[in-house]
Amino acid sequence: MKIEIKGLNLIYRNGNHAVKNITLTVEEGMFGLLGPNGAGKSSLMKVLVALMKPSSGEVLVNGENIQKQRKKLRSYLGYLPQDFRFFTRLKTWEFLDYSGSLAGIKNRKQRLQTVDELLDKVGLLEARDRKANKLSGGMKRRLGIAQALIGDPKIIVVDEPTTGLDPDERIRFRNILSDLSQNDVTIILSTHIVGDISSTCQSMALLNEGKMVYSGSPDDLVKQAEGHVFNLRLTQEEYERVKDDLHIISSIPSEIGWDAQVVADDVSGFDSQIIEPNLEHAYVYYMEHKINGVSINI
Ligand code: ADP
Repeated sequence: MKIEIKGLNLIYRNGNHAVKNITLTVEEGMFGLLGPNGAGKSSLMKVLVALMKPSSGEVLVNGENIQKQRKKLRSYLGYLPQDFRFFTRLKTWEFLDYSGSLAGIKNRKQRLQTVDELLDKVGLLEARDRKANKLSGGMKRRLGIAQALIGDPKIIVVDEPTTGLDPDERIRFRNILSDLSQNDVTIILSTHIVGDISSTCQSMALLNEGKMVYSGSPDDLVKQAEGHVFNLRLTQEEYERVKDDLHIISSIPSEIGWDAQVVADDVSGFDSQIIEPNLEHAYVYYMEHKINGVSINI
């Protein structure tokens, strides 16, 4: 399903302008919404799932305004909110069974079958009889995605699903989303973790202070940072001198001091080597240089 966001603004009652004039089209597959905390990702998602009304602008799904089709939207939407919690003593399968009833699966036999299929898909079949609120953080998140998937949604919106997960669980979660994106669905994933996007999304947008500052493919974003990422061989004295002014992505001790990967415009005067950028470099480059207009000359 195609989602068109047109001139969208969201201003909270206290005057916070959280979403600023966003226009964007999202096609089938996996779409990543990347931005720092407070960028407006959750606010945008709440409008996309019709939990909040935009102050102006509109969201169309297959050409229809979602505000006018809220009931219909529910029938093809799965949503995993950022603050998804279980206030329940239900067992894992019971919780999902309950979610299935809410999603309108009336036939009990069919519902139970769907519950076990979904538990299997998210790797929780063995935990089906455990209390949902006693599961580990990663397992709860996986149960959250199972809950979003019940009823076969065509649009799946997941808000910061990997925050707080350990690396194994994060990879597992991303793989579940990648598998899903093979099936003619539109998945919108918001995150402040660059790695969530690079490994899974074909297209993405970058949000900063409510504004969309980039939309396109992760690869094209990476291209923008070409020629701006360096490996610097710094003496201890040089390192001390520049470390607060530089965007150091990583540094490791060397025989002479430090080898530091930096994002910069100009590093003349230093022992440097240009390196291939990755998405994390590109994110830093884009946020600092393109947006904040910082030029780093050392
Ligand atoms: P993100 O999901 O990218 O961290 P949010 O959408 O949560 O960003 O927040 C965007 C901005 O809107 C922030 O400045 C935040 O403080 C503000 N905000 C979020 N929720 C509310 C609210 N209910 N009332 C007022 N301001 C809010």
